[in-house]
Amino acid sequence: MAAKLTQDEHLTYGMISARTRQRMVDRLREKGISDPRVLRAMREVPRHLFVDQALATRAYDDVSLPIGHGQTISQPLTVARMTEALLDGRTTGAGRILEIGTGCGYQTAVLLKTGAEVFSIERLANILDQARQNLRAAKLTHARLVHGDGHFGLAAAAPFDGIIMTAAARHIPQALVEQLAEGGRMIMPIGEEEQHLWLLEKTPQGLQKNRLDPVKFVPLLSGYD
Ligand code: SAH
Repeated sequence: MAAKLTQDEHLTYGMISARTRQRMVDRLREKGISDPRVLRAMREVPRHLFVDQALATRAYDDVSLPIGHGQTISQPLTVARMTEALLDGRTTGAGRILEIGTGCGYQTAVLLKTGAEVFSIERLANILDQARQNLRAAKLTHARLVHGDGHFGLAAAAPFDGIIMTAAARHIPQALVEQLAEGGRMIMPIGEEEQHLWLLEKTPQGLQKNRLDPVKFVPLLSGYD
């Protein structure tokens, strides 16, 4: 069990992290992130609350970090790029977003801060509990967190304006394509050893596919426990 911080330590750490977070946002801007909604969300979410206490000092470095159970929290630049790609072109609010792979809940938090209505599916119950606690600590309690296999999406809440997957699939799950609204966007890593981010858009002419950056995500697995 990680030691809890005292109230004073919380205040001090909060001030330090606000400054460190601003530096992280400056670096994101230098690397080409420009959507003000994304930059604001990244500045506002206290990323150190989503990683283990022992790693909190590295929370604002641009690296992915372990979150237990063999899973990782994505590096800030990847979170920012994916969120920006998802929101790009949407001028009337972030809309209704489905996330596959809640993990520690950091990406969920960033999406919530952009004003999106967020549904997030995670296959590991322990990880989902941890995400719920992390989001509560960050005072972001309005995401719908679902325990299940993201391959099947969430038909009951479809259609979605955006779908974001934070584990690498081998193929595009058909259920997700069906649950995407007309004009909606889906961003996901695809591949095994070699992976790329793909941006998919549902248009009247069909699914438009664009391959983006090479990435490294944990695999999308089947079933849940
Ligand atoms: N977005 C997360 C990163 C998550 S890591 C963050 O910000 O921390 C990927 C997560 O996807 C892991 O927690 C893993 O358990 C989950 N996952 C893998 N396959 C899945 C599936 N089929 N359905 C739902 N979640 C899945």
